[in-house]
Amino acid sequence: MALSGLKQIAGDFASLFFPTVCAACNGPLVRGEVAICTLCLMECPRTFDEHDPVDNPAARAFWGRVQLQGAASLFVFTKGGKVQELIHNLKYNGRTDAGIAAGKLFGNEIKDLTPFNTIDAVIPVPLHRDKLAKRRYNQAACFGEGLASAMKIPQYEHGILRLSATETQTKKNRNERWENVEDVFTLNKKINLKGKHILLVDDVITTGATIEACAIPILELEGTKVSVISLASARD
Ligand SMILES: [Zn+2]
Repeated sequence: MALSGLKQIAGDFASLFFPTVCAACNGPLVRGEVAICTLCLMECPRTFDEHDPVDNPAARAFWGRVQLQGAASLFVFTKGGKVQELIHNLKYNGRTDAGIAAGKLFGNEIKDLTPFNTIDAVIPVPLHRDKLAKRRYNQAACFGEGLASAMKIPQYEHGILRLSATETQTKKNRNERWENVEDVFTLNKKINLKGKHILLVDDVITTGATIEACAIPILELEGTKVSVISLASARD
């Protein structure tokens, strides 16, 4: 049998296990398309934030709050649109492949652009432990995995740990109590981030408060820098 025939069979076999519908339109994928169809890749609205990483709506969400090197979102989030469907499928329907594919796409586009070309490692915004146990994966880490792979840098999936307010309030030190903060983010002490430029990654930027809470402990370390990438963010 010709090699192409074998490849065909292997491909058909693989399609039994890998999703064969587009995560953005739920239409069939054709050979060569991965997770998101070509039409959706063209039709999902792009922000092009990466061309001005210090002054764009994603970056502006952090002005006066936390010092970032740059911020950018891949897609514009619109209610009822393809991007919302893509994110819904990523978060709730097991479409981890769509997060990875979108991460690879964007990673290839930003890897040589300032300031993203000096990033040392990716850290995804962590999920609550109980949410992670239920969902079995962190959608931000899927997107981060694709970014890290294209940018040829590591992803520290558990670089930041998310504690609930109740956990932190059982600590003995009263000064460590946090008021009006639902979640508290702390650095994983097993990973040395000193002097590194970290890319914080999330699926959607809304208020920016979660990413801000993740960036603060990183920036308290000597010589660290932070940039931010999200799969989507809303635009006015
Ligand atoms: Zn599609």
